[in-house]
Amino acid sequence: MSSSSSSGKEIVIIGGGVIGLSVAYQCLNRGHGVTVLERGPDTRDCCSLGNAGMVVPSHFVPLAAPGMMAKGLRWMLDPASPFYVRPRISWDLMAWGWRFYRASTASRVRAAAPVLRDLSLRSRQLFEQLNSTDGFDFGLVQRGLLMLCKTAAMLEEEAEIVAQANELGVEAKVLGLDDLAAIDPRIQMNVHGAVHFSQDCHLSPNRFVANLQQAILDNGGDIIWDAEVTGFKTASGGRIESIETKERSFICDECVVATGAWSPVVARMLPGLRLSVQAGKGYSITVDSPPALPELCSILCEAKVAVTPMGNSLRFGGTMEIAGLDQSINRRRVEGILKAIPQYFPQFEDCDFSSEPVWSGLRPCTPDGLPYIGRSRGHANLCVAAGHGMLGLSLAPVTGEAVAAIVSDDDPGLDLRLLAPDRY
Ligand SMILES: Cc1cc2nc3c(=O)[nH]c(=O)nc-3n(C[C@H](O)[C@H](O)[C@H](O)COP(=O)(O)OP(=O)(O)OC[C@H]3O[C@@H](n4cnc5c(N)ncnc54)[C@H](O)[C@@H]3O)c2cc1C
Repeated sequence: MSSSSSSGKEIVIIGGGVIGLSVAYQCLNRGHGVTVLERGPDTRDCCSLGNAGMVVPSHFVPLAAPGMMAKGLRWMLDPASPFYVRPRISWDLMAWGWRFYRASTASRVRAAAPVLRDLSLRSRQLFEQLNSTDGFDFGLVQRGLLMLCKTAAMLEEEAEIVAQANELGVEAKVLGLDDLAAIDPRIQMNVHGAVHFSQDCHLSPNRFVANLQQAILDNGGDIIWDAEVTGFKTASGGRIESIETKERSFICDECVVATGAWSPVVARMLPGLRLSVQAGKGYSITVDSPPALPELCSILCEAKVAVTPMGNSLRFGGTMEIAGLDQSINRRRVEGILKAIPQYFPQFEDCDFSSEPVWSGLRPCTPDGLPYIGRSRGHANLCVAAGHGMLGLSLAPVTGEAVAAIVSDDDPGLDLRLLAPDRY
């Protein structure tokens, strides 16, 4: 590990998901002292573990895009659909929905796309570096992502994204059926066509998180488990004097909030900080001995299901349920994921995965689909690193690098203005 700064501050990071751990790792890299406070035990589960493991420069269009609101409303009528908002009386949900609607314009998407591109391409480089760092072994496969389309209409929609991608400098091309069979001969695909994003990659998120945890400990950082943050003591001017858990207080020079879908709960403990985040629940099912194992990861476009090989197993993930901080499993939506698989992969026709364990996780979704990365205006020593939605694994290394630069009073090297935590 190289040390590029010896400013040596004490940094307390709240949240031990992939974002908090990546921030911790990069802060240690700059010579700071680091303590991670994680509410769960070391065997905890969180969104960072069971996700689809994709690193996706292809995802430069944020969730809040033209047409999404109408599509979402249509999907809400189908109990097995990939998207659902549970109706409930909540001011936060209404405000979030209104902001989502306001962000779903062509001009907002045009402004967000280069920001997401720069973040994800830098993150990809950092994944490559980590992959060749001692102690890291997380199954990185750099063969790209396939967007598999069953219908001509979907392929046409994806082809439009290809044109936008190439304009932005993201590699993408439409594949005919012969090219598709040649690129991943290990699995039969029953589709109309596909798009290949060659810079995307995939990895095992469970192994990546375990590697980060070990690297933090090996480099002198501290991870305190069962340490739920319950409050803060602030001085005038909003400076954080101490961070409170049930057991004790922690004094720090800088504090970083990286509590994923729970970030609004933690923000409410601080005067003047409000984070608009809704939990977007998703499920995954990991099958240990699948009848066929593709080499590339893919997205089944009509069904919105992600498929990722991880070693000898295959993970299927999907659905986005905006239903509060609730991790319970809705079997009908899980059935929606399982039913899609044989439609795209005929070798799975005789498989019944309905008794496989189902994992659920809460994506931290901002209204405009961009994360919150940066200092809070009202708190001189507080950074936020949260709200990464569908991109938290992808953007973890670059978030870590940017926040480590900010707490070191250095230039993060990327334009983070659209990511300001106080933008709502
Ligand atoms: C089905 C599915 C598939 C996905 N696939 C991908 C993918 O392929 N690629 C990708 O980039 N992203 C993917 N994602 C999204 C990604 O998993 C998330 O964006 C990411 O894990 C968020 O990380 P985080 O560290 O912000 O949050 P989390 O992983 O939720 O971590 C937050 C941590 O904060 C802790 N915490 C909360 N409150 C407190 C408190 N008061 N005190 C102390 N600790 C606290 C929690 O216990 C938790 O451990 C997927 C998500 C889902 C659900």
